[in-house]
Amino acid sequence: MWLNQSILNRRQVLRASIAAVAASALPGSLKGDEAGRSRAGAGAILFTPLQSVPGLPDQRYPFTLPDLPYAADALEAAIDTQTMQIHHDRHHQGYVSGLNRALEPYPDLQTRTLAELVGGWEALPDAVRTAVRNTGGGHLNHSLFWPSLSPSGGGEPSGVLDDALRIRFGTFGAFREEFSRASGSVFGSGWGWLVSGAGGRLEIVSTPNQDNPLSRGMTPLLGLDVWEHAYYLRYQNRRADYVQAFWDIVNWDEVGRRFEAL
Ligand code: MN
Repeated sequence: MWLNQSILNRRQVLRASIAAVAASALPGSLKGDEAGRSRAGAGAILFTPLQSVPGLPDQRYPFTLPDLPYAADALEAAIDTQTMQIHHDRHHQGYVSGLNRALEPYPDLQTRTLAELVGGWEALPDAVRTAVRNTGGGHLNHSLFWPSLSPSGGGEPSGVLDDALRIRFGTFGAFREEFSRASGSVFGSGWGWLVSGAGGRLEIVSTPNQDNPLSRGMTPLLGLDVWEHAYYLRYQNRRADYVQAFWDIVNWDEVGRRFEAL
């Protein structure tokens, strides 16, 4: 336990050092962050939007729909084929198309990564702020979602992520219970998340609509889409059953890689 704790502490120190260097090297054009801070007021948590997120392709405008990393019927045990097809081919494509439309008149924003856009949406010009928040968030969230699932997933994580979850939540079962509760209790549409928060501390949070924890200075590691479009054909109003089935297809290898890349 103590050994693992010291590994985490080294990771946190390293991460804080990297963040400090990155902040000091920021170009003047990233004023958005400053604006966000002043709007948030004194005492707000300060953060710089990450340029990249572990597990997220380093895309810039024009954005494209990533392929599913498995066949649409591969997760049938937990998520039916038609839901996967509609969810990926129509909903996710809709976010990609909407984001490209929104950024078309803004060449200066077209050079930014998806993580920079979504992480810093609050500081964007009024005319694109909401579109980037919703469609950019939708593209980012789903781009992380598909690879976090696998037909050979489920079970429990291993390695340093397993250690970190146990240190933070006591047992894997306690983590799973809290994550399920957070996801199940999202009112309306949104997501449940395992994130790396302040100081690298693991946290469980939820976000409304297509918001991503990045916008609050946290790095997403695992997200669960609890919009009705993600489960309604098979589960109708039984979101809890969908959340339960999700645990059978979580790709812990992928989540573990994201954690180790922090
Ligand atoms: Mn969705």
